[in-house]
Amino acid sequence: MDLNWEKIIEIIQAFDPEYLIEIFLIYLVIYIFLRFMEGTRGEGILKGIALVLLIVPMILSILSNTFGVLHRMEVILKFFGAAAIPALVVIVQPELRRALVRVGQTRFFGFIFKGQTESIVDEIVKATFRMSRRNVGALIAIEREVGLKNYIERGTKIDGLVTSQLLATIFFPGSELHDGAIVIRNDRIAAGGCLFPLSENPDISKTLGTRHRAALGITEETDAVVVVVSEESGTVSFTHDGKLEQGLNPDQLREELLKYYAQLEERQVEIKREELEELEDRDLLRVGSGEKKEGDSKTNSPRSSNTSHEKAEV
Ligand code: ATP
Ligand code: MG
Repeated sequence: MDLNWEKIIEIIQAFDPEYLIEIFLIYLVIYIFLRFMEGTRGEGILKGIALVLLIVPMILSILSNTFGVLHRMEVILKFFGAAAIPALVVIVQPELRRALVRVGQTRFFGFIFKGQTESIVDEIVKATFRMSRRNVGALIAIEREVGLKNYIERGTKIDGLVTSQLLATIFFPGSELHDGAIVIRNDRIAAGGCLFPLSENPDISKTLGTRHRAALGITEETDAVVVVVSEESGTVSFTHDGKLEQGLNPDQLREELLKYYAQLEERQVEIKREELEELEDRDLLRVGSGEKKEGDSKTNSPRSSNTSHEKAEV
């Protein structure tokens, strides 16, 4: 490294604070413009254009540097160079936020057995269509890999086994907890009266109200799946990954729920296998480094501490 302190100080002294102001102003203009467009149909197109505008200057810059041509494009290049990173951050901000939320909330889940999921699904389907026939509104979220702890904690704790009677009782009009959503975690109804973020997707039909928007909102932010019963029409809907399927019959709902539970089961098996492999690796390392027999009892400790974590979480 031929970069010494003198050079660094020279660079700092030569730095013109005007650049910072310029970058900030450009950032502000782009930010205000994108916020203005946010939630409109134009937003998608704008993102496409923005990406092109980021790629074109890059190509121009390579041409200019390699072949020494197109110097007059430098003004544009400078502009885009300064604007590119903040623009990109603003453009991908919702996706970035969602990704961070998912990373931050991945949970250690308890184990659900195959027979158990089928009976849970049957209870949900039974309750859903009982409520649908009586036009009782309901919102049932099923937690999967991304934890819904934040929403559970802000609701009212229930911690009861999933049965069709309990589900129908919670949503019975007049019950204290009938407003808001319930969250199912493993084989239990963790909480009721939970509030979810409302989806801001502009493509959602105007006829859908806040219950359906909350169902979509939570599936945009997390990998949860949600069953909705409309109070107005009795229609049963299923939402996942920010998508809504309306007008399901009992067989269709059962099929959807089983599909998502099966994915969860597969993922659980994968995680358990990874855990075991990790433990085996640690074991091998211990044996390799000549650790004594008492290490055996220690090798169990990460597993048992993990298990107790799972229990605490469940
Ligand atoms: P419906 O077809 O049942 O009328 P909708 O989509 O038209 O449903 P609304 O009529 O606005 O929705 O339903 C209002 C109910 O939705 C509230 O009483 C409440 O139970 C539920 N709800 C509203 N906002 C939320 C939210 N953010 N999180 C969870 N539940 C909500
Ligand atoms: Mg309504």
